[in-house]
Amino acid sequence: INHIAVLTSGGDAPGMNTALFAIVKTAQQQGIKVSGVRKGYEGLIDNDLVTLDCKNLQQSMHLGGTVLKTARSERFRTETGRQQALATIEHNNIDALIVIGGDGSFRGCLWLSHITNIPYIGIPGTIDNDIAGTDYTLGFDTAVNTSMQCIDNIRDTAESHNRVFVIEVMGRDSGYIGTYAGLTSGADSVLIPENDKDIDDLLLKISDYHSEHAFIVVVSEGDENGVEYVCEKITAVNSSIDLRVTKLGHLQRGGNPSAADRMLAIKLGVHSVKALCAGESAKMVGILNNTVSNTSMQDVVKQHVINEELQGLLSIFCR
Ligand code: ADP
Repeated sequence: INHIAVLTSGGDAPGMNTALFAIVKTAQQQGIKVSGVRKGYEGLIDNDLVTLDCKNLQQSMHLGGTVLKTARSERFRTETGRQQALATIEHNNIDALIVIGGDGSFRGCLWLSHITNIPYIGIPGTIDNDIAGTDYTLGFDTAVNTSMQCIDNIRDTAESHNRVFVIEVMGRDSGYIGTYAGLTSGADSVLIPENDKDIDDLLLKISDYHSEHAFIVVVSEGDENGVEYVCEKITAVNSSIDLRVTKLGHLQRGGNPSAADRMLAIKLGVHSVKALCAGESAKMVGILNNTVSNTSMQDVVKQHVINEELQGLLSIFCR
């Protein structure tokens, strides 16, 4: 392999820049050139490539977001778009591809593999931690730390006024951030899409709530109840409650990656290049039981299982 192209696609996640640095550093040692494709698959269609410089990336490896920029590309979902992407690959003599993104981005790779045999490797990057084949995805740990700190701050004021706070955290259809942020911030209740009965537990707990304390409810963005409905229900069972709502929103997506996310990015970045050099293709690299591993792209699906252990913790602390 002489020339690898790397792109970041779908939602940005802290750790993507660290992974880019790790990829270029490893490739450089193997004498491999690395081009960065700007704006995900859009850049592959538009031949929007930059040569990645190790020194520059070293200076941005600690930053959130992605220096390559990212996009959701509708054009890449079309045959014409993918043919244009193939033309860019051939025109630039690219002989391997690394895609950093979520399951949608990996589905894009699978489509590309229908028209070209170019080897490719995926690195899971999404704050939602909802991809099979890895225990953790890039950005999840950072997003949890950010949410946890925000909830800590909210608790300070909530305790001072004996208020009930309903706090929405990210997770498009996964309760991972909600579960981790809720547990680590001592929330009284966590509502996640994986549990449909949790609102009943919450309403039972809060119906006769008159306390000299704060009461923190964490609601996953993907929970079917939604924060507005949860507030309505709470007020209906206990109208004396001093209720406030905070949606943490996009601040959970940004920020410097945590040490754990940087280590994950370094391990997966290095391994992605080594895997390509070893002749691997159509694999997602991930961490399973603390070991770097490859999972066939065919088996990489969106997965958001809150396992028994986590469910047990939720039932002890948040019900
Ligand atoms: P994520 O990678 O974070 O899950 P998306 O689901 O938006 O984000 O996917 C990112 C991009 O991957 C899409 O904008 C599109 O260009 C490409 N993609 C996703 N699904 C497909 C598909 N079925 N066919 C072709 N391209 C796809």
